[in-house]
Amino acid sequence: MNKQYRKALVAGNWKMNKLASEVTAFVAELAAAMEIGDGVNTALCVPYPILPAMVAAAGGAAIAVGAQDVSAHDSGAYTGEVSAAMLKDLGTAYCIIGHSERREYHGETDALISAKLFSLLRHDIRPILCVGESLAQRDEGVTLEFIAGQLRGALAGVTAEQMGRIAIAYEPIWAIGTGRTATAEQAQEVCRHIRGVLAAEYGEEIARGVSILYGGSMNAGNAAELLAMPDIDGGLIGGASLKPWDFSRIIEAANG
Ligand code: PEP
Repeated sequence: MNKQYRKALVAGNWKMNKLASEVTAFVAELAAAMEIGDGVNTALCVPYPILPAMVAAAGGAAIAVGAQDVSAHDSGAYTGEVSAAMLKDLGTAYCIIGHSERREYHGETDALISAKLFSLLRHDIRPILCVGESLAQRDEGVTLEFIAGQLRGALAGVTAEQMGRIAIAYEPIWAIGTGRTATAEQAQEVCRHIRGVLAAEYGEEIARGVSILYGGSMNAGNAAELLAMPDIDGGLIGGASLKPWDFSRIIEAANG
């Protein structure tokens, strides 16, 4: 399982933060803080109303734009929802699905997340599928089994070709927004396990090409150690992606 088969991906998750009017200055500050090297794909996943401003600002800075959720439906009477076709039309390249905050606050199930995943694939948007255990599950010793179940649930029916277009983010719930990062060894153990689950389903060749990200209080200080792990191919970054300098340090760490 070698990193040469996949490109690093660093994706920011702004959650429900910032305004469209703040985007141009943010991207200028980010671009001034670093050179985005060839070794890393970079994306900022922003709230829906910010997408057009981010697409306009980020193109020149070689930053792709992502959303944080999508409807499972292509169109129709789904008040308040936003379809993958609408996201694609705006220039969205990535979309987070299955984030633990959506699972917890919106009751999203693996079946719904699966439907969202297929919607994104139909519209050529790269899904970033989040999985992760709670602290209680970690303490009970069921982390690996639980993550395998989440993967099988959300990826049911995905072909090998489609798997090659999906990124997975391992986000232990106890590490999100808490300042408590998983150790590099804990994160590596689960990311290796994820690759093993994918290998069992799709074969070694497909599994070694899938980008597996770690997310959970990754920051400028701990990114290099986490990203040096053999099965951690990038990061999904919440809080630190709101600060241009901090986010730039993580991108540079991923670029090696
Ligand atoms: C996230 O919400 O995806 C996340 C990883 O948040 P944070 O980096 O703030 O822990």
